[in-house]
Amino acid sequence: MKKKIMIIHTGGTISMSEDEQTGAVSPGERNPLTTIPLIVDSNIHIESHELFNLPSPHITSQHMLLLSKFIDQQVMEQGIEGFVVTHGTDTLEETAFFLDLTVQTRVPIVLTGAMRSSNEIGSDGPYNLLSSVKVAASEEAKNKGVLVVLNDEVHTAKNVTKTHTSNIATFQSPQYGPIGIVTKRGAFFHHSPVSEDKYRVDAITKNVMLLKAYAGMDSSIFHALKDMQVDGVILEALGQGNIPPTAVEGIKSLREANIPVVMVSRCFNGIVQDIYGYEGGGRRLKELGVIFSNGLNGQKARIKLMIALESTNNPDKLQELFLR
Ligand code: ASP
Repeated sequence: MKKKIMIIHTGGTISMSEDEQTGAVSPGERNPLTTIPLIVDSNIHIESHELFNLPSPHITSQHMLLLSKFIDQQVMEQGIEGFVVTHGTDTLEETAFFLDLTVQTRVPIVLTGAMRSSNEIGSDGPYNLLSSVKVAASEEAKNKGVLVVLNDEVHTAKNVTKTHTSNIATFQSPQYGPIGIVTKRGAFFHHSPVSEDKYRVDAITKNVMLLKAYAGMDSSIFHALKDMQVDGVILEALGQGNIPPTAVEGIKSLREANIPVVMVSRCFNGIVQDIYGYEGGGRRLKELGVIFSNGLNGQKARIKLMIALESTNNPDKLQELFLR
């Protein structure tokens, strides 16, 4: 029996072409990836499905939910044993992490994309697609959570982030590194994730905003968010988890309105902790009921809070979830 691998296309540069006259890169009538001969192994049966054809800045949490449900359904109904999802690189890490938290199947799920469109010199799409099929078909890729494969590296959805606007080596896992490599012979893993975090969601209904702290930030934006009655706020705080004193009043008002505030750091590496006791320092923020996150970046903390809020907005429970 051949192993059944499904490629799900969602769009992005990997599915786009460059206009020779204008140089503009955009989606066309036909997805160029569907014409690539993918010869990986005669024991693999590949089928393709075009779920969306969207640039990834057009992807919303509703698309992510639909994709998550589609994957679980394909495993149940078609017995698919591995998935490759092609996606624009701009929000790829958010969709990857959404799937990591919500998909129930344990079969390998690999997201990939490209930095150069299909007809540009040095196009990386077909190569990344081929590498991703190798990973999705490998036995070792099972039980490692959702993976992201580009440029011969395997990353976890939890740690990977887009680090460069145009370089093909854009996807990196700051602090942790990739968990495997892809070679001509296949995928080789050198690390395994230590934990798993799963949720069952039927709908995504909450409005969660993401803000970045800066020197001299005041409270006005927090008051505006309170007036908008948002469901939650992610704050990319300074350093180990501190904010300017002028922003404290705003955080206080969000907490008084029972709006959860989750703090991550705007630093590229490290986690936030309640270390500093001065006005605006982490210790004071903890006393105000700010939730400390465990190393996620801002955009992924937002995905996690949206998902978590579907089952609870209890601050203690949320704090427990954000330590996972
Ligand atoms: N702007 C593109 C997108 O995310 C970038 C890419 O796919 O690499 O759809």
